[in-house]
Amino acid sequence: MNSLRNSVFDKDFLIWALTNSDSSFLQELFAEAHRVRVESVGEQIYFRGLIEISNICRKNCLYCGIRKGNSMVSRYELSDEDILLAAQRAFDSGYGYVALQAGERDNAAYTARITRLVQQIKLLANPPLGITLSLGEQSLEVYREWHAAGGNRYLLRIETSSKKLYSKIHPNDNIHSFDNRLQALHNLRKAGFLVGTGVMIGLPFQTIEHLADDLLFMRDFGVDMCGMGPYLDHNETPFHSYRHTLYSEEKRFTMTLKMIALLRLMMPHINIVASTAMQVLDPLGREKALSSGANVVMPNITPAFAKENYKIYNGKTSAI
Ligand code: SAH
Ligand code: SF4
Repeated sequence: MNSLRNSVFDKDFLIWALTNSDSSFLQELFAEAHRVRVESVGEQIYFRGLIEISNICRKNCLYCGIRKGNSMVSRYELSDEDILLAAQRAFDSGYGYVALQAGERDNAAYTARITRLVQQIKLLANPPLGITLSLGEQSLEVYREWHAAGGNRYLLRIETSSKKLYSKIHPNDNIHSFDNRLQALHNLRKAGFLVGTGVMIGLPFQTIEHLADDLLFMRDFGVDMCGMGPYLDHNETPFHSYRHTLYSEEKRFTMTLKMIALLRLMMPHINIVASTAMQVLDPLGREKALSSGANVVMPNITPAFAKENYKIYNGKTSAI
């Protein structure tokens, strides 16, 4: 068993490991991933203060609660002052990083505003805060501009590495294109960002084989960080009608822990996020992820009035 880290992480092995629910195997897998994490990236947990700057989105991903087509959502956009104040608080609380996340928008006034905000956040503190952006697909020029302004990392989940599954979980039009999303990941790297990606686990139509391919995708792409989490139902989305077809919450939770642990064994030196969605399925979800290979937490520091309206899935905690 101690040779788990020396396994050959090919598709057959990954399918075998993802299917194996023997409790002594799971214990050893999680413990080995934890040991590898500590040996490779250290005991330290990295905190990124997450600011959900707006829930306005031009997209209609079939699984997401803030999709454009959801007319029940009350839309908001934080002011510059709110964002800078949240960033200042993050610094005062000892966080080295903030992460700005929002729905996807593409007009020039919006992208220029982000550039300005990134520059202003950089000037707030000494040493300057690191900045992660998670603002969806943009052109290479926009990514270059945001990186030049001071953006360090960018989180853009591929959602699934299967083009076929991608087309089942999104509308089929050119703003929901798998090829464009993959190109965006390459462009982010070209623009100089440290690139993070990830997938949802337990999606309708998703198989173990898809999940094994997702792990291979992240290794082959050579991601710098990964944020993956369980798929959670939202009652105002088209996918709500598939809720009876999903893995149980417990199985989605354990499957996510297994994905995190396996990725840690495959990529010992990357950053892996213990996602907020883990916390929805288990009050100790993030802690369990941190003992199974994850090393990053993104506490939510969005002002309360806005956080209420950033409901990507049901049960999103109002706690940090
Ligand atoms: N608009 C940006 C960033 C905000 S969405 C983008 O899409 O990249 C951030 C992440 O929330 C998405 O990448 C997706 O993986 C996740 N998400 C959306 N709906 C979800 C759901 N129902 N359950 C779990 N995660 C979800
Ligand atoms: Fe918009 Fe992101 Fe939700 Fe898709 S996942 S609808 S891009 S916020």
